[in-house]
Amino acid sequence: NDVLRLEGIAKTYNPGTPGAVEVLRGLDLTVARGEVVALIAPSGAGKSTLLHIAGLLDTPDAGRVVLNGRDMTGLGDKPRTEARRRELGFVYQFHHLLPEFSALENIVLPQLANGVAERAAQARAAGLLDRVGLSARAGHRPAALSGGEQQRVAFCRALANAPALLLADEPTGNLDPATSDRVFDMLMALVRETGLSALIATHNMDLAGRMDRVMRMDKIVASP
Ligand code: ADP
Ligand code: ADP
Repeated sequence: NDVLRLEGIAKTYNPGTPGAVEVLRGLDLTVARGEVVALIAPSGAGKSTLLHIAGLLDTPDAGRVVLNGRDMTGLGDKPRTEARRRELGFVYQFHHLLPEFSALENIVLPQLANGVAERAAQARAAGLLDRVGLSARAGHRPAALSGGEQQRVAFCRALANAPALLLADEPTGNLDPATSDRVFDMLMALVRETGLSALIATHNMDLAGRMDRVMRMDKIVASP
């Protein structure tokens, strides 16, 4: 009952050229249903590459990506995009909210793209904002919000379509330590409440310790 299973993943950029970079080799990783896994990696170890492969934004050279029991490896762009929109939520270090739309609208739009009716989408967005304490900010544009508030809206947007798996790359890495701590707790509460599974990359050992399991990645030492 794994939400995500990566089996024997290999990835080399620019293969067969002098600029070849072998990033991943024989990498295995699973995230069980309801599990929150911390991904700890030194810079350059391939953390972003791994998250892009898990997020169906990039394909491995070898190995399998199994999402909710379905092997996504050989599938075309259309089913992969569909799965990304319905089954995955993304959060990055920077919020990537649309500047010309309000906090609420930023959470409504991805639902409309998935065919949810406007009323229902607004109700869900309002409910999510309420859970992160931002009801009073629903009508504000991102620029009018603090960094911590922007990230909380980004969490709500990631959860807008009730994904099975959240993929997060340093979700509080852009915030000061006290805010990071508080905002991370809100993210965890939201994840736990919704029974979501998550793979969260972080450099913060304290935050990693609050997750269910820590997965460590090391830099591949290239064989001669
Ligand atoms: P991390 O997120 O752990 O810092 P990345 O996955 O971003 O690591 O990158 C791992 C290695 O792969 C780095 O050496 C990086 O320079 C290289 N790399 C990443 N993307 C590309 C690319 N598109 N083309 C060539 N090399 C890349
Ligand atoms: P980085 O990983 O370099 O820090 P950013 O945090 O700026 O990147 O986020 C932009 C990332 O969004 C890009 O790496 C890109 O691969 C990714 N991306 C592109 N399309 C989508 C999508 N449909 N859903 C989620 N992420 C996407």
